[in-house]
Amino acid sequence: MTQFWRPGAERPQILDDEEGGVLFYSAPQSSSSSGFGYSILERLRKRLPVYKYKTAIQFLVENHATTIVVGETGSGKTTQIPQFLREAGWAEGGRMIACTQPRRLAVQSVASRVAEEMDVKLGEEVGYAIRFENVTNPDTTKIKFLTDGVLLREMMDDPLLTKYSIIIVDEAHERSISTDMLLGLLKKIQRRRSELRLVISSATIDAKTMSTFFTGSKKHQGLEAKDDKLNMTPAILSVEGKSFTVEIHYLEEPVSDYLQAAVSTVLSIHSQEAPGDILVFLTGQDDIDAAVQLLTEDTRSHGKNSGLSILPLYSGLPRGDQELVFSNSPRGKRKVVIATNIAETSLTLEGIVYVIDSGFSKQKFFNPISDIENLVVAPISKASARQRAGRAGRVRPGKCFRLYTEDHYVTQMAVEGVPEMQRSNLVSLVIQLKALGIDNILGFDWLAPPSPEAMIRALEVLYSLGVLDDDAKLTTPIGFQVAEIPLDPMISKMVISSCSLGCSEEILTIAAVLSVQSIWMSARGAQKESDELKRRFAVAEGDHISFLNVYKGFLQSGKSSKWCSQNFLNYQTMKKVVEIRGQLCRLLNRLGLTLKSCEGDIKAVRKAVIAGFFANACRLEAYSVNGMYKTVRTSQEVYIHPSSILHRVNPKWVVYHSLVSTDKHYMRNVIAINPSWLTEAAPHFYHFQKPNYPVS
Ligand code: ADP
Ligand code: MG
Repeated sequence: MTQFWRPGAERPQILDDEEGGVLFYSAPQSSSSSGFGYSILERLRKRLPVYKYKTAIQFLVENHATTIVVGETGSGKTTQIPQFLREAGWAEGGRMIACTQPRRLAVQSVASRVAEEMDVKLGEEVGYAIRFENVTNPDTTKIKFLTDGVLLREMMDDPLLTKYSIIIVDEAHERSISTDMLLGLLKKIQRRRSELRLVISSATIDAKTMSTFFTGSKKHQGLEAKDDKLNMTPAILSVEGKSFTVEIHYLEEPVSDYLQAAVSTVLSIHSQEAPGDILVFLTGQDDIDAAVQLLTEDTRSHGKNSGLSILPLYSGLPRGDQELVFSNSPRGKRKVVIATNIAETSLTLEGIVYVIDSGFSKQKFFNPISDIENLVVAPISKASARQRAGRAGRVRPGKCFRLYTEDHYVTQMAVEGVPEMQRSNLVSLVIQLKALGIDNILGFDWLAPPSPEAMIRALEVLYSLGVLDDDAKLTTPIGFQVAEIPLDPMISKMVISSCSLGCSEEILTIAAVLSVQSIWMSARGAQKESDELKRRFAVAEGDHISFLNVYKGFLQSGKSSKWCSQNFLNYQTMKKVVEIRGQLCRLLNRLGLTLKSCEGDIKAVRKAVIAGFFANACRLEAYSVNGMYKTVRTSQEVYIHPSSILHRVNPKWVVYHSLVSTDKHYMRNVIAINPSWLTEAAPHFYHFQKPNYPVS
């Protein structure tokens, strides 16, 4: 029968007792699991590489405050470790096991997989939580998957995370800003809660860096004395998975259009190579949708039976479509999954034999001087390229087609990516740390410290929003209220201000729309039609106000999907907007703020937008013929994005929601304003000199 370690049982064999302060354990001889008598899922589980380490994992977690598990993607870390720990009793007595993921899509996907393996209903024993969606039951949930961001939010109500007996920080190698922040905070919590166990799990982690980070400070040693059985030195377990060789093919000459190159590579694999599914790495929804369309058109032109089953995979994809990528391809068909880097390590697809790597991903970059944060399509690191290639060798020897030259790989690609912490706008991070009572932010125990410039910039922004006071403490009530709302602080400030301006009903709609990717369907090939339809909702004041018309229309249509497609709107996204808006309503009620409609007084709505976004004010250049604006704050050249209804309208003064940079800096979601409202909303920002911040 299933074998697992329980306290008191014989210890698994120790391979290397202490090597440089780090303990390594090997797996005990596993009892061979013959397949008979088990369900298919159970048999699949037992074949996963981590299964052999079940007892070792249970033993290490029992005896070490922190356990680091390193193992190939697909070895079963995410889906199995929480189950092993539940079996060892860690979810008994009302306790819960948390497993964090940097990506929302991964949270939903692994949670539903684990629920299926345990044969329970999702949301009961196994649940998940992502922003604005909580599928758990406080009475029954034992294993909870959640984004690292949501766990950080939970700390605002429960700073020591007392609900959880174990926190598994998964995909730690991704080094997302929330993961890094979480690791720093968990280290603090560990000192206060000696019974808490941490498991850090990842595909490629530099285990020693993590181990050093979690190896005791003086305070730790004090704790060791209290509980002498618990080892404060992190244990490192390396799970050896089997994987097959992957033959790497480079381009001889660089290509200018990786999208086209990816499409033709799919077609040539399909016509020349043996059966096996294909995984293509592109950068985001836009290029993935385009590639799907190009491939679909091509297969159509070859008659119905092309033998390809083409599936996109990116966050924001409806649930049903997400599940499709895991299903077996129809008999005789070759599956082609076109994905973002979500398929690099977060999700494992079976049956992939060919990988096509564009060499790019979308990455955040922040420039604290210009204060511009951008999602840019940028070259990936060698580490990522290696991971991507590895996806081809799961079931048998595979091939990876890199859409770049070997020279590019060797000379242009960084060895590892820069942690997100060091290339992000830190406004949300600072406000969250402040809300958790951590004032000395620069002195915080970071795995990789953020840049002081970005930190100071974040403090400035928060100060100007009235969220921080002269001592860099959260203001009451605004600062605390803004921190409570799980949105960008500028949006949160807009929401809070709308309550006193009497237009919170409208602003909540706008805030909900601004929190989703885009409510419009991508208009590839139908730009003109889509622009015309968009204009039906357009109002001279700008995009934000036209969102109100869209939302009204959607409600009046009875939330109809037909109405959405007639108007080029994404039905799934619109449903999400309704849901988020509802959540925000409840949140405001909880904060004791009143909801009120301005009944068509659009000026109030615009003023509320300015209350959050005054720092994004721009003025049209007097003699500009091409619609060039300059930002008031830094005199940066910017233009209204073609997708905005104010494109070509070019009002003299505008405030934008965000910038995207391609050939130029483009403002997305723009609203026309009266400049006198700026000084009214933020006199300190537009008149006074910058104060000196106590940056401790
Ligand atoms: P790791 O975390 O080590 O990368 P996982 O635990 O995510 O590995 O995956 C283990 C196995 O479970 C893989 O074979 C994967 O294909 C399968 N799996 C994971 N999630 C799903 C899902 N939602 N549907 C079907 N199979 C899944
Ligand atoms: Mg995983």
